[in-house]
Amino acid sequence: EQPTVGLIGLGTMGSNLALNIAENGFDIAVYNRTVARTHEFVEEAGRLKDKLTGTDTLEQFVAALKSPRKIILMVPAGSIVDDQIAALRPLIEPEDIIIDAGNANFGDSNRRAAEALEQGFRFLGIGVSGGEEGARFGPSIMGGGPRKAWDEVAPVLEAISAKYEGQACATWMGEGGAGHFVKMVHNGIEYADMQMIAEVYGILRDGMNMSAPDIANVFAKWNEGPLQSYLIEISAEVAKVIDDKAGVPILDIILDRAGQKGTGRWTAIEAQHLGTPVTTIEAAVAARNISARLDQRKSGEEIYSAAPSPITGDAITIDMLENALLAGKIACYAQGFDMLSAASKTYEWGLPMPDVAEVWREGCIIRSAMLNDMAEALKKTPDANLMFAPFFVERLKNSHGDLRQVVSQGALTGNSTPALSAGLAYFDMMRTGRSTANMIQAQRDFFGAHTFERIGEEGAHNGPWNGTDK
Ligand code: NDP
Repeated sequence: EQPTVGLIGLGTMGSNLALNIAENGFDIAVYNRTVARTHEFVEEAGRLKDKLTGTDTLEQFVAALKSPRKIILMVPAGSIVDDQIAALRPLIEPEDIIIDAGNANFGDSNRRAAEALEQGFRFLGIGVSGGEEGARFGPSIMGGGPRKAWDEVAPVLEAISAKYEGQACATWMGEGGAGHFVKMVHNGIEYADMQMIAEVYGILRDGMNMSAPDIANVFAKWNEGPLQSYLIEISAEVAKVIDDKAGVPILDIILDRAGQKGTGRWTAIEAQHLGTPVTTIEAAVAARNISARLDQRKSGEEIYSAAPSPITGDAITIDMLENALLAGKIACYAQGFDMLSAASKTYEWGLPMPDVAEVWREGCIIRSAMLNDMAEALKKTPDANLMFAPFFVERLKNSHGDLRQVVSQGALTGNSTPALSAGLAYFDMMRTGRSTANMIQAQRDFFGAHTFERIGEEGAHNGPWNGTDK
């Protein structure tokens, strides 16, 4: 049958996505810049070969597809996507849909959606999470663009997506760049989730002197409780592996310098634009940046002989660490969803908040048991802070004391916990009715006559600074 679905870019993600599409019974045409790769890909597709049409030129690719064409781009984000769209433009028809499935900046997707409207074709920007494995066997998909175009592509995307109890993890989030925005926040949360796990790992390793295989057992046990998640699961997996070459746990020979492709940073930047606090995510991005300063950190260690010291006695227990991580995670997700809620209003997307939690329940990197509880809470109060939803109030009441203990013991012994500390400070600030910003307002009025409000009164006032009521 002549395919309507095509895919450009047979790299890690594209080739797996194409096989997933074929596996689900859809015929698909594929094209790759390096033609040899296309041939190799089709050759190696085995039983799925019949479903694939390899093409050597963009013209052949477009001709192989029946209109309305659904053309998925899986190329590196940025100008390459614009170039690819420009190359396709003269070849396609108005009803055809170009779908950018890479990690685009949502601002670019907003722009491309507007350009598509002007130029008379249809554009969708979809966030795809789950890495290589997800692309092949079921990713989580967050869509953005014209609803009608999404509805036309949805049967394919729902078929290939991950399923949570039979429900497809592929959801339309809103117009323009909404899908890529949600994917960006997903990645920001991913940064914070990973960082908080790394901080707890650090306390187990340096504060409690545990070996990597013992830490693996702790994580594996946590994965059976409320912390059950893909990231805890893989943390247990990586901690137990012994390196062939060195004969020691592989974690102990992996350099402590973390890479990043920028989606966490984007989240922090966009949060600042929106004026929403995502302090755990900001701390996680900063921690990766600090990790890159290996030489400086080594100098610091020499000057201050400040390697983390052990935590004495039973000041921290494994159960406390589990609770601390739980509390930190709730604070982090509360921030992430609050950011989505703010963006939804600012960009007039009408983001379906419970659906965001639901689409993340399977297929993506941050999938976890807790996301189902979050979806339930958001169904009741979509725009309220998650920390105030009754289910999470209970959880936090039972766990924030342990977060406090872990953060303070960490501080006393030099075991740094930037993301957990940020989560705790956020929690404390969000439950303080009378904050200290009165001092900020007084200062602002003193040096800049910015005025302040008086408690219980309307209107703006100036203070009697320098002895005169200005
Ligand atoms: P790869 O580097 O594995 O593949 C890139 C693909 O794009 C190749 O097919 C390559 O073709 C093609 N390409 C590169 N440059 C150009 C160009 N100038 N013109 C035309 N085609 C080009 O990337 P990934 O599959 O990892 O990533 C693709 C997208 O998916 C990115 O936006 C990425 O951020 C996103 N993503 C990646 C995830 C992952 O886990 N890897 C997870 C989620 C999203 P050629 O063979 O000719 O080099």
